[in-house]
Amino acid sequence: MLKKFLPNEHVKSIFDVHPVVLRKKGIKGIITDLDNTLVAWDVRDATPEVIQWFKQMKEHDIKVTIISNNKQERVKIFSEPLDTPFVFSARKPLSHAFKSAAREMNVKKEEVAVIGDQLLTDVLGGNFAGFYTILVVPIVKTDGKLTRINRKIERRILSYMRKKGKITWEEE
Ligand SMILES: [Mg+2]
Repeated sequence: MLKKFLPNEHVKSIFDVHPVVLRKKGIKGIITDLDNTLVAWDVRDATPEVIQWFKQMKEHDIKVTIISNNKQERVKIFSEPLDTPFVFSARKPLSHAFKSAAREMNVKKEEVAVIGDQLLTDVLGGNFAGFYTILVVPIVKTDGKLTRINRKIERRILSYMRKKGKITWEEE
């Protein structure tokens, strides 16, 4: 069970996720989290760097869908200017939103990469759905109300796995 919390890859930020590398792995679709993955949870709009990252993915023919447990207003205001499909109130880690996002992008299971900053929602959900998972370091150390409880559990899982030698990445 704990294995399901382990991402396939761990990177500092989305800017360490490069389209050419993804294409080599056969990835054609990205399902990404929003809060603390693309921007800090309390930042309304995409930064120029994020806009550029989306553009790069498009240029390499990689589709991107944003799926977030956050509410409609937040996700819509952020995603629409990027001209990218989005799912709000996604209820991650449940598989439904992940699977329907992949279906909408018309990509196969093994062609999907999930990117997110949380083990309990993004990584667990992505692994359940059978996708390639990439964990990023949260952009800021603070979280929205709902996430704080998840973080407590996450810290326990991480320290357990670190002790077991299952995690090799550096602590911030
Ligand atoms: Mg997040």
